[in-house]
Amino acid sequence: MKNIFGYTRGMLEDYFLELGEKKFKAQQVFEWLYLKKVYDIKGFTNIKKESLEKLLKDFDTTFIKITKVLEGKDVKKFLFTLIDGEKIEAVLMEHDYGLSVCVSSQVGCNMGCKFCESGRLKKIRDLEAYEIVLQIILIEEYVKKRIRSVVIMGIGEPFDNYDNIMRFIEIINDPKGLAIGARHITVSTCGLVPKIKEFSELDWQVNLAISLHGATDYVRNKIMPVNKVYSLDVLMDTLREYIVKTNRRVTIEYVMLNMVNDGENDAHNLAKLLRGMNVYVNLIPYNETSHIEYSKSSKSKIDKFYTILKEEGINVTVRREFGGNIKAACGQLRSESDCK
Ligand code: SAH
Repeated sequence: MKNIFGYTRGMLEDYFLELGEKKFKAQQVFEWLYLKKVYDIKGFTNIKKESLEKLLKDFDTTFIKITKVLEGKDVKKFLFTLIDGEKIEAVLMEHDYGLSVCVSSQVGCNMGCKFCESGRLKKIRDLEAYEIVLQIILIEEYVKKRIRSVVIMGIGEPFDNYDNIMRFIEIINDPKGLAIGARHITVSTCGLVPKIKEFSELDWQVNLAISLHGATDYVRNKIMPVNKVYSLDVLMDTLREYIVKTNRRVTIEYVMLNMVNDGENDAHNLAKLLRGMNVYVNLIPYNETSHIEYSKSSKSKIDKFYTILKEEGINVTVRREFGGNIKAACGQLRSESDCK
């Protein structure tokens, strides 16, 4: 049996067509699940008996479970237990423009970025699309409010779980699904070049963020093993192609690590690397983790870095800090949670 929350409307249409039924049924199923919030297939009362029996036989609606919630100022961290007992986390943030959720894409992560907590545990498995959709549905049910935006920046590397992530995006973006606008969805990658290319083929308005964190191969090689596979030149060429093809602005994430990548020369190198590109840089104050060899850049260094980028004509902001005290911040999520 397949979990119904992992099916796009198109997949359900194919399912009904194969049964010799009208594809419109798929829309009805979506309306029950995502509009009327009826999660028991037996409750789909406008679907005729035989189809309903078939649906019950082919699909289940088993939920993942929220097993713990930690609350901080404007932020909540949710620990989920999956059906096989694995654990993941998601984070809800309250902005003045509405609620946003940061979802996980894998159990553990194989990218091995030296400063990130999520990679402490090697990837155990990819999340199925339904397990990502349900993170949002369960959080919406918990807070009884609609989620306005979604970032795929929790545990895992989304482009290492590409098909499930694309399916997830389709379901939450579908006007008959969770109806979260494409412009309010951001997928972040550490730089898996072939998947960035594949992503640029889709004509979607979804935002792409790149975890760059270094403006030279020297710096990037030190902290991000992925750079040894796809070097900076290759990544930057791919991003330039992406921007031309999609005509969309790319977000560049740059975590500020004391004495590693936060010097004035680093800022100048970054400005040079990005000059003329349609990007905006998001400087991320480092959240301390169990990797004690990395520490946070001082506020004055972050300010200086910011000012240099500004002066060099680069769009730049400093990411608001959320959830540090409940270990819900960027790079602090892990599957073996201390909030267990
Ligand atoms: N694997 C994807 C998705 C994770 S996004 C990616 O790398 O983009 C999470 C973001 O937080 C990434 O930019 C990541 O590099 C950054 N990050 C990791 N550890 C961090 C930490 N301790 N403090 C601040 N940001 C961190």
